[in-house]
This record gives sequence, C-alpha cells and structure tokens, in this order.
Amino acid sequence: YFTSNTIIYFNGEFVKAAEAKTDLYGQSLHYGYAIFEGIKSYKTDSGTVIFKAKEHYDRLRRSAELMYMPFNYTTEQLIALTEQVLEKNGFTDAYIRPLVFCSPNMSLSKGKESYLAIEAWEWTNGYMANKMRIMTSSFERPNPKAFKIEAKVSGHYVNSILACQEAKDKGYDEALVLDANGNVAESSGANVFFEKDGVLYTPAKGSILPGITRATVLDICKELDIPAEEKFFTPDEMRGADAAFFCGTAAEVLALDSLDDVPFTKNWDDSLCAVVQKAYRNLTLGKSLEEFKGLQVADSR
Ligand code: PMP
Repeated sequence: YFTSNTIIYFNGEFVKAAEAKTDLYGQSLHYGYAIFEGIKSYKTDSGTVIFKAKEHYDRLRRSAELMYMPFNYTTEQLIALTEQVLEKNGFTDAYIRPLVFCSPNMSLSKGKESYLAIEAWEWTNGYMANKMRIMTSSFERPNPKAFKIEAKVSGHYVNSILACQEAKDKGYDEALVLDANGNVAESSGANVFFEKDGVLYTPAKGSILPGITRATVLDICKELDIPAEEKFFTPDEMRGADAAFFCGTAAEVLALDSLDDVPFTKNWDDSLCAVVQKAYRNLTLGKSLEEFKGLQVADSR
C-alpha cells in the first residue's frame, strides 16, 4: 500500500508512512476503538477530484461523536489536508484512508486523546472483469443494539473479515450478510441492490452502514426516473432476481453473478443495474448524466 516514499499526514505533520510511529498501549489497537473512512479521488477533466469528500468527512466526524472521541478537525480542514497528501505524493486516482485512533490509554472509558492519520495509495479500478459469485453468510451483521452500526468503527470490521473469509474458503468471491431478523443487510464492505421487474431494491437502514455510494445510487435513480425502493427483504426474495450489484466507494458499482449459486437472470448489459453502473462512473469522472436520461424503463422489464 505504501512505498518507502509515500507521504501521509499524521498528527500535524506530513511524514513518510514507513517512519510514522505510534505506541502499543492504546485502546484502539487493543479494543478496535478507532474510526475511519474510505474515500476515492479520480482524475477528471478539471483536475483531481476527491469524490464526495464532504460526505465522507462529515461521516468521519459523526463517527467520532458517536464513539465519544475527542476530534476537533472541521470537514474543510480535513479536505484541505487530504488534498495536500495527494499533491505531495503526485496521486490522481487514489484510495484515501483517514484513521482516527485513541492512545495512550488502556481503559474502557472514552478516549482522552485522538490521533489522525490520512493515508493514501494509488488505485485505478476499472470494472471487475468477472461478475461476483456471492453466498449468504453464516455470520450476522453486528447487532445494532450492541453497536452503533451507522458509525464506521474499526472493531466492526472483525465481523467483515469473518464473513469475507468464510465466503472465500467456500469458493465464493464475497459474502452477503444478514441482519438479526434474517433480512439482507450488506456485504463485508459494500451495500447491495437488486433489480426485479424494472425496480431496484436496497435494504432499508437499521443494520447497515448507510453508504455514501448507496445514497449516490438512489440519487442517480431519482434523476434517471429509475424506480428504487428501500425495504427489508430476505435472501429468498433476492435469489434469482433480474440483476444485482454491490456498491461502495472502493467497489463502485460491482455486478453480481449469482447468490448461493442461483444466477441473476438478466443479461447484465440489458439491466437497469448496468445503467446505474455507467452513470456512477460518469459522476466520479465529473461528467453529467444527460446521456442516460429519457431511458424507457418499461422496455427493460
Ligand atoms: N457497508 C460496509 C460494511 C462498508 O464497509 C462500506 C464501505 N465503506 C459500505 C457499506 C459502503 O459505504 P460507502 O459507499 O460510503 O463507501
């Protein structure tokens, strides 16, 4: 992720990633009590743009608040620091990983002092060549009565690692994780949509990380007159649907092949999901959605 020359922001300074030091006596390392964001920058016709920068840093600040962490940066400061990290490394298409952690303190009460690191690495996606084969996980998402699951907290990702690794061990690409009621929640690190009879469906909020990409997809649907609904549904309802995708900052809009070996039935290129995928791509590159407007939704049923 970093080379010997990669520069990060760390606690008031720009330093080489390999030389940044922290201590081993801290709540974050021991208890998973840290918060983070995953952000992408794109090379566009008007320069490098950090996609949805405000939304990501507002969420980081909200995560800090929900976790009782002292954290005094404004969104504007955070964006400016990130721009400097990109500039100092000469990155255009990059993945940006701000991390806020608490140290030195080993107690189980709220953090006394927080540290901010803004790390980045070069990342050009392109769409995955192959659609993903996913399976329903035997692990549930963290119970929202036990965690503040709308916060992006490091400790929550132990659950993601279990679900993702289980899927890989069983020969799948990723996991579809259910909530405590048996409804579809999300993937280990992305939200999910499926298409059925000309309508897109995504799990309602409650047991998911309310993704910024998910919100962007819902905005795209509104703008393009693609019917989209947030609701609770079971994997039974999703299995064998017309098409489906995962979406997230890193995943962008990623086509799914099958759920539990039951294929999605439509040719991807003929699906509304594919339109959303292309539209999302355009937005990240700073282009308009004009070319997708006036789409005949009825034709795609
Ligand atoms: N759910 C989980 C568990 C995630 O880790 C992510 C990635 N941050 C998402 C959903 C998608 O969120 P976003 O679109 O804000 O990247």
